[in-house]
Amino acid sequence: PKYVYDFAEGSKDMKDLLGGKGANLAEMTNLGLPVPPGFTITTEACQAYLKSGREPAELSAEVSEHLAALEAKMGKKLGQSDDPLLVSVRSGAKFSMPGMMETVLNIGLNDQSVRGLAAQAGNERFAFDSYRRLIQMFGKTVLGISGERFEDALEAAKDAKGATNDLDLDAEDLRALVETFKQVVVDQAGRPFPQEPREQMDLAVRAVFESWNTDRAVIYRRQERIPADLGTAVNIVAMVFGNLDMESGTGVAFTRDPASGSQGIYGDYLQNAQGEDVVAGIRNTVPLADLEQIDKRSYGELLQIMQTLEEHYLDLCDIEFTIERGKLWMLQTRVGKRTAAAAFRIATQLVDQGLIDMDEAVNRVTGAQLAQLMFPRFDAQSAKSDVKRIGTGMNASPGAAVGKVVFDSYTAVKWSRSGESVILVRRETNPDDLNGMIAAAGILTSRGGKTSHAAVVARGMGKTCVCGAESLDVNTKQRIMRAPHGIEVHEGDVISIDGTSGEVFLGEVPVVASPIVRYFEGELDPEADDADDLVKAVDRIMKHADGRRRMSVRANADTAEDAARARRFGAQGIGLCRTEHMFLGERRQLVEQLILADTDEEQERELAELLPLQRADFVELLEQMDGLPVTIRLLDPPLHEFLPDITELSVRVAVAEARGEKREGDLRMLQAVHRLHEQNPMLGLRGVRLGVVIPGLFEMQSRAILEAAAERIKAGGVPRVEIMVPLVANVQEFETVKQDIIQVARDVRSETGVHLEFLVGTMIELPRAALTADQIAEAAEFFSFGTNDLTQTTWGFSRDDVEAAFFSAYLEKGIFGVSPFESLDVEGVGELVRIAAEKGRSHRPGLKLGICGEHGGDPDSVHFFERVGLDYVSCSPFRVPVARLEAGRSMT
Ligand code: PEP
Ligand code: MG
Repeated sequence: PKYVYDFAEGSKDMKDLLGGKGANLAEMTNLGLPVPPGFTITTEACQAYLKSGREPAELSAEVSEHLAALEAKMGKKLGQSDDPLLVSVRSGAKFSMPGMMETVLNIGLNDQSVRGLAAQAGNERFAFDSYRRLIQMFGKTVLGISGERFEDALEAAKDAKGATNDLDLDAEDLRALVETFKQVVVDQAGRPFPQEPREQMDLAVRAVFESWNTDRAVIYRRQERIPADLGTAVNIVAMVFGNLDMESGTGVAFTRDPASGSQGIYGDYLQNAQGEDVVAGIRNTVPLADLEQIDKRSYGELLQIMQTLEEHYLDLCDIEFTIERGKLWMLQTRVGKRTAAAAFRIATQLVDQGLIDMDEAVNRVTGAQLAQLMFPRFDAQSAKSDVKRIGTGMNASPGAAVGKVVFDSYTAVKWSRSGESVILVRRETNPDDLNGMIAAAGILTSRGGKTSHAAVVARGMGKTCVCGAESLDVNTKQRIMRAPHGIEVHEGDVISIDGTSGEVFLGEVPVVASPIVRYFEGELDPEADDADDLVKAVDRIMKHADGRRRMSVRANADTAEDAARARRFGAQGIGLCRTEHMFLGERRQLVEQLILADTDEEQERELAELLPLQRADFVELLEQMDGLPVTIRLLDPPLHEFLPDITELSVRVAVAEARGEKREGDLRMLQAVHRLHEQNPMLGLRGVRLGVVIPGLFEMQSRAILEAAAERIKAGGVPRVEIMVPLVANVQEFETVKQDIIQVARDVRSETGVHLEFLVGTMIELPRAALTADQIAEAAEFFSFGTNDLTQTTWGFSRDDVEAAFFSAYLEKGIFGVSPFESLDVEGVGELVRIAAEKGRSHRPGLKLGICGEHGGDPDSVHFFERVGLDYVSCSPFRVPVARLEAGRSMT
């Protein structure tokens, strides 16, 4: 392959090969903009180096050829002693990884050429300053010397002079500093600073290759889901100098404000400086607008170029530039990163300017950005510095929450009823904590990962959650949380948790509500004259996405309240109502009694007590979703989840026995717990298996659903009920339960005299169900993919344990880039979905297909579900707008 491209040979569409920086330098060169000449070593060369530990054999000769061309163009040779060509060696991967990889400037300077440079520039100070920068950067980047060694020496030189600013050091001082730096290299690296220019360049190129795998680059890629094997390109660019004199300088500019999207002059400029001075914040920059006073001609040219770039890229661009003695040079441009708010604003602005159409605008924003806009946030302006950070955990569910610490669900509910904002702090949470979680403003746990109970539930509720903050020691019995440095947090103390960063603060950080949620709630009118332009932008984009999408979007909702919110957020029905949540709280007793029942009569009595409660739940739900489909799932979790913990109960019984007391109730309960105890409850008596073993349970639930529907019809409503059977693996299981449901329906029809229409369908959440979907489709009227369990059973990963156990190692080693519980594993689990959809429809054309696992609200997964032709995705109410947007984007 060809490993080196001159800038004139590339284009902006060659990012895979030339990296973002190289591709855009090429594009600007070909646009006729003032780019210093140079060439790019491809990402393929880097990949080859990273694989074998050696540069590809052809690379050196190709570099020589392009270097010779560069030297010819510039009329001087690299490091030439009387008039040296100097180059920068800059990293640049396909995706921008700001500050993650390396760059070395001023390559080509040595003890001789520094004098040549001084003579040519007529500026000795400048030449020695450039030389010391080279030794410093080279030492750090190529030779791995700690940057502090050089910084300390620089500080010492300034101190000796009584200077505070680098500019106060004169040529003499800098010449001495160069000698000091060279000695630092000898001491630290055990070798002298290389004087041979080509050796400097080759070593710098290699260091850039290697910087692909620095810790910070690896962590950044994981966070941003950038594949680990892309490698970086390397750009060799003729140096231009912003540090020649006060007629020179360097700056950054944006064609629009990347924070708000507003148009105007945005950027910073620094006179007499090289690029890293701006970034490092050593000296204070001036606003870009001031450049007009400093250098009117360059300023005018820059504005002109910025306009050219925007019109060419049709998007916000950010730019790095240098002015060398009044001559403007473009060092970099790219389509700039922006905040979520700016993304929406800019997309619609560009439409209004006639630069892009609405389809493209929808493409320019992401569901992740929309989600960001929906969470309440800590006010970025108010520094978090007044409060103390006491820990950091996983950013399990974004948002910002402030409240008093409580350690149990009961207190959470009690305090929140009396109007307090509370943060529920637990070591980990379990289903029993649900009420407390609902009552709390936020949830903090010291154990568990992003798919722990706390995290999943919190995300579902759109509630801020930080989990696995391991430095915090939570003692719920003593009602105390201990943080490092002897800090103790007691019940009632105020803390703030940031679900976006995972930080935990002692004290109150101010929070602002999201206007976007208020818009979705219908509280803000986007058509109003004084409507925020962000709200207007979001509204326009949502409307277009809704118009484009083929899939409908439903919500996973278990309560009337959630259903109502989901509907306001645009849900077109309920894709999953998990009925187990209706068995918690006060009803738990009844469930316990049901499980303990010795005789059929007892069992029927308990079921009869549950029936009206369930029916009332469903009436409310159907009322909220009147006219829209509502999928209600029959009970899924293993029964032991409703019983006390086996260890606790055993202890209680043993203690009682030792005291000579006999507690009948506890004893009976313990027997039941033992009877139901399973090694692998997730693979045990749950879902349809419960329906087969205890038919009365599913019959009661079906009756409650159908009676609720009949009641709604009598009240003039339009209930559209879909009864869903969970965890089906084979068609006979499903048919057994379906027969019972049909019988119940007959009974309800004749009892109420109401003609009921409803569907009976199944979840597809086991591989066997997916593979025999054709048979199952003979009996089932719809499928809903339960991709949580399908992921668990396809990989053989326990969804409850996996994060703590080994996911971090898997993520670290790149076995997967993102947890398959978060974003659908398209190749494996997705293939089962595809097969089941195809087989199902082959036996029942028009079979309704949906998905109700967590993936229903994950942007990448939504695009996959569009590709396999599902009818709808279902996700938590707060994700509904995200799914709507992504379903729309999947069509553009
Ligand atoms: C699933 O398994 O994907 C599903 C939606 O069901 P649950 O998460 O309740 O097991
Ligand atoms: Mg499931």
